Amino acid sequence: MTFHLKGERFTEKIETARQRAAALQQRVTESPQQQPQLLAGSLEELKTALEELHVAEEELRQQNEELLGARGALESERQRYLDLFEFAPDGYLVTDAAGTIREANRAAAELLGILPTYLVGKPLIIFVPEEARRAFRSQLTQVPKLGLVQEWEVRLKSRQGKLFNAALTVASVPDKQGKGSSLRWMLRDITARKQAEEKIRYYHLQNLRLQEEVRLKSQFLALMSHELRTPMNAILGFTQLLMRQAQHQLGQNQIHMLERIFNSGKHLLKLIEDILDFSKLEAGKLELNLEEFDLVELVTQTVEELQSLAQQKHLEVHIHVSLDNPCVVNDSNRVRQVLVNLLSNAIKFTDSGSITVDACEPTPDQIAIAVKDTGIGIEESEIQQIFQEFRQLSQSLTRTHGGTGLGLAITDRLVRMMDGKIQVESQPGEGSTFRLELPREVTSSSNTAVIV
Ligand code: ADP
Repeated sequence: MTFHLKGERFTEKIETARQRAAALQQRVTESPQQQPQLLAGSLEELKTALEELHVAEEELRQQNEELLGARGALESERQRYLDLFEFAPDGYLVTDAAGTIREANRAAAELLGILPTYLVGKPLIIFVPEEARRAFRSQLTQVPKLGLVQEWEVRLKSRQGKLFNAALTVASVPDKQGKGSSLRWMLRDITARKQAEEKIRYYHLQNLRLQEEVRLKSQFLALMSHELRTPMNAILGFTQLLMRQAQHQLGQNQIHMLERIFNSGKHLLKLIEDILDFSKLEAGKLELNLEEFDLVELVTQTVEELQSLAQQKHLEVHIHVSLDNPCVVNDSNRVRQVLVNLLSNAIKFTDSGSITVDACEPTPDQIAIAVKDTGIGIEESEIQQIFQEFRQLSQSLTRTHGGTGLGLAITDRLVRMMDGKIQVESQPGEGSTFRLELPREVTSSSNTAVIV
């Protein structure tokens, strides 16, 4: 704009000087007798015109310098864009509407496996595998109409025959003359992304398959356990009946055999029940039957039930209860199950000393029960493992103590279902304390199975 104005002013000044000279000439022609005076006047006028021309010339020179500076700035700006184009990490191409390459940057040439200079003049379609060319051509004709096509996924083949997945973004840019248009392309090799997507899809499918397998396995276990439990109950019931009714007809040896059938049966039933519970917990099918009950009563009864086991090992069992309010809302059968698991473990893993059950209320909304023994204890490094299913710490102990390694896994999951938590403190050789914290009132919102 400034250059344009300055140019106009220079032209104006030349025009003024020309007009002055013309006026002078006319006056000389019209009145030749006044020539000497006119000459002096015209010299003066010419001087003024010359001075003005000098000023204009100076302005023009200045303008020229400014112009040169602007051209330099423009050139470096152009170079900057060229560098950006040239060294961009993605492939860039400019083609005509038919897809013939006019310009290409390094990345594009590298992707297509050819030097940039050889790329110019070639139709892009030659890098599309033959079987995909028809589809490519038909999409290409759509580009000018659509204006912009993004993430157009195409298989491309480099000059060396290497196939790769590319994502193309194409923009149609109208020519300056308004005739036709050229296309600006961005090429990106998405082979790695495609492979990653493929892997994710594969793992997702695997995961679904595994989930289904786990579900079927749990269903099968639940069904089998149920089928096994029914005859087991019959075996136990009839053995007990026989022991009671035929006590006088049977010899000591036979009674002993019946006792063994009964005890083994009970053990087997416990295993079946553990497996049934565990599979139900895993399948998310276990529900708590919430009711209000007296916790002190439940703790006392449970300890009494296991008293005979403790007595067989000459262990004393103490109960300390300090509860102002013994009423709780929970599933009494499941709380009993948790206590039986902790108490029977305490008895199982203690050879001398005592077991203590402590129940208190740390806050009015919370109940805490601790089962403490003076038994063999647990190594610190193994404490976290005991809550994992099928986990037993010592194989030789397992042989002498029996068990499935499911008791604590079930206990942990049940306690979590009750919105509570269980913690262990133990010293090898000095005993263990299993501490249970439960809300006084378990609500139905927590009444859903915890799937780990
Ligand atoms: P199990 O059916 O084998 O008793 P659990 O899940 O109840 O399975 O216990 C897992 C393991 O944790 C046991 O095999 C034992 O090694 C250890 N454990 C549990 N309770 C105690 C305890 N009171 N004292 C020492 N070790 C224990």
